[in-house]
Amino acid sequence: MSELKTDREIDRSKMTVSDEVAIEINGMNKWYGAFHVLRDINLTVNQGERIVIAGPSGSGKSTLIRCLNALEEHQQGKIVVDGTVLSNDLKNIDKIRREVGMVFQHFNLFPHLSILENLTLAPIWVRKTPKKEAEEVAMHYLEKVKIPEQADKYPGQLSGGQQQRVAIARSLCMKPRIMLFDEPTSALDPEMIKEVLDTMIELAEEGMTMLCVTHEMGFARQVANRVIFMDAGQIVEQNEPEEFFNNPQSERTKLFLSQIL
Ligand code: ADP
Ligand code: MG
Repeated sequence: MSELKTDREIDRSKMTVSDEVAIEINGMNKWYGAFHVLRDINLTVNQGERIVIAGPSGSGKSTLIRCLNALEEHQQGKIVVDGTVLSNDLKNIDKIRREVGMVFQHFNLFPHLSILENLTLAPIWVRKTPKKEAEEVAMHYLEKVKIPEQADKYPGQLSGGQQQRVAIARSLCMKPRIMLFDEPTSALDPEMIKEVLDTMIELAEEGMTMLCVTHEMGFARQVANRVIFMDAGQIVEQNEPEEFFNNPQSERTKLFLSQIL
């Protein structure tokens, strides 16, 4: 579990964190009806950080990252993404969604559209990019995730790992400054986890700000600069990977680590 499932060389020297704040969360609380799902969340993320969010099932990891691009509403506190306050103002939500890409456990590709069409749909219809230009950008990112030859196929004809790389390429076509990953490898067979992690490592090496909910603790150790542990809707503990794994502070973190490592 703690081994990184790749034999790829990782160049951490390229993963630099800047002074610029990418995301700021202050006193954030969220309820689902009467259920208090996120409790007093405070978190500052700088540009270039690679953050892994870990924690037991149901601890609020998905809800937290879904709040960051307004897929979920928060009821209390302040979220600022790339200088824009996340409020009910649709203009702001639109702006933030442009800056923030999201990749889910289930790839959410449109089954009746070709891979190329999946990649160009939002650029053409949301961004009003000319079709030819959108296709050039799409091919660029398909090459980047190493499956340009799949452009004319349909999602059902691709392996899970290939579909997830298409989903990542689709996000990149919108030129995000921040990428959110919610268990991107959890639905994949072991041999396909590697190819998706390799793509994520490459993004990290290019300086992308990344928040990743993942159980891949090898990725956390070697790629993340910070691991955040959540339990019962709270950030219980956060630290650099070395300290987080070797010297966990809270009992809840120790218990969690003893179960997964
Ligand atoms: P995690 O991603 O850490 O597994 P989630 O953020 O998905 O946790 O869920 C946190 C808690 O909120 C869980 O108890 C879950 O059942 C609950 N929950 C998630 N989504 C909803 C929803 N749409 N309505 C009500 N409760 C929800
Ligand atoms: Mg989840």
